[in-house]
Amino acid sequence: MTNKEETIVALATPSGSGAIGIIRLSGPDAISIAQSVFKGKDLTQQESHTIHFGNIVDGDMILDEVLASLFVAPRSYTRENVVEISCHGSAYIIESIIKLLIKKGARGAKPGEFTLRAFLNGQMDLSQAEAVADLIASNSKASQQVALQQLRGGFSNQLQTLREQLVQFASLIELELDFSEEDVEFANRDQLKKLTHDITRIIGSLIQSFELGNAIKLGVNTVIAGRPNAGKSTLLNALLNEERAIVSHLPGTTRDTIEEVLNIRGINFRLIDTAGIREATDAIEQIGVQRTMEKINQSALLIYVYDAEQITIEELNQDIANLQKPGISMLIVANKIDLFSDAQVSALPHNENTVLISAKDKVNIDELKNAIYHAAIKYELTGNETLVTNIRHLEALQKTEESLIKVLSGIDSDITSDFLATDIKQALHYLGEITGAVTTDDLLENIFSKFCIGK
Ligand code: GDP
Repeated sequence: MTNKEETIVALATPSGSGAIGIIRLSGPDAISIAQSVFKGKDLTQQESHTIHFGNIVDGDMILDEVLASLFVAPRSYTRENVVEISCHGSAYIIESIIKLLIKKGARGAKPGEFTLRAFLNGQMDLSQAEAVADLIASNSKASQQVALQQLRGGFSNQLQTLREQLVQFASLIELELDFSEEDVEFANRDQLKKLTHDITRIIGSLIQSFELGNAIKLGVNTVIAGRPNAGKSTLLNALLNEERAIVSHLPGTTRDTIEEVLNIRGINFRLIDTAGIREATDAIEQIGVQRTMEKINQSALLIYVYDAEQITIEELNQDIANLQKPGISMLIVANKIDLFSDAQVSALPHNENTVLISAKDKVNIDELKNAIYHAAIKYELTGNETLVTNIRHLEALQKTEESLIKVLSGIDSDITSDFLATDIKQALHYLGEITGAVTTDDLLENIFSKFCIGK
């Protein structure tokens, strides 16, 4: 996967031109290779965590004036010798320096290879390495916080503790196998049962946290639906505070769907405005209506908007009944309250969960944003909770849970130690897959190949 004898090099900053580009070298010869092209000081004689000004030279030709930052093993990201060369951010300069370093003995790094080495050298476990990618991809306060929490080992520590407890029992049961002739029980079954129960409960709550974790990481898919002319496009604009969607008097103008991202208190909501729900009159409309239903089925949150002036209570109830889907939260929004007096507004068809707004005059938009947030995020986030955000982790946790349930039923039906040991080992195996205590080359390849080069 990676030959640690080799020194690797890659651009660590985005490609293209910028004020600065940072080229990263990691491996046993990182410092000597950097030194072979650096004129200024002797980098091989410098302390770790120091920065040095000098020129990068190719023979007699100066390529650039740079700063070289030195990290001596094991005090670096990869736990290897690392040199970061900060040069001027010209694509030409960067390419020339990298080519030169390769000529001097470095090898171009593969995607994620720096982080792979950090993992293989014990700098971080696998879930932390994955958090590096999540942190770089984070695009909202909440997704950044969850990734940071994972990177700092919150999730790993929790799993590690569970794993250690199970390992202890597994070894006691193994011991029983050695004494199988004598019918002894080293591992107290009641204690094992309690421990397995406790762990299963914690695993269960981690599995449950995925829904929220995933929403935070990827955003909450939110569909705005309602009859034509209810004011969906106007509402989308009011929420986004700009004129993005097309607003028109003709029913059915918003034929295709428009997707925008609305950030409420650190959570990204992917808002999808849809063609109106009603009996389609022409073929294009029909496609729109069909898409609306598809979009609703793929969403986590549905904002149903109606025109409080036009709709009858029967139509309202019918729409709500048609749109309600298990697993999808629904928020009901009565629009166009500007057309009514305060006294009339309270008499409009609505229930206590309805948010009354005027999209056109931007009345109660903040209240609506609050309601949207709470419809998706059911409790206050502290930023310290452990949330599962990764589908690979979710699957491993589900398999762990299955094995633990087998352990529990095994204890209940008094199965022999060897079967019990097999089930506990299975659970340990799946837990270990998350942190990388158990890995295969394929798994690592799969994870790190999704990283970009230089990471
Ligand atoms: P859509 O078909 O649901 O997307 O509806 P539009 O956003 O295109 O709005 C349809 C019509 O209703 C337009 O003429 C809007 O100006 C009007 N409209 C939207 N919201 C309001 C509102 O809050 N009050 C009033 N009076 N008219 C509105």
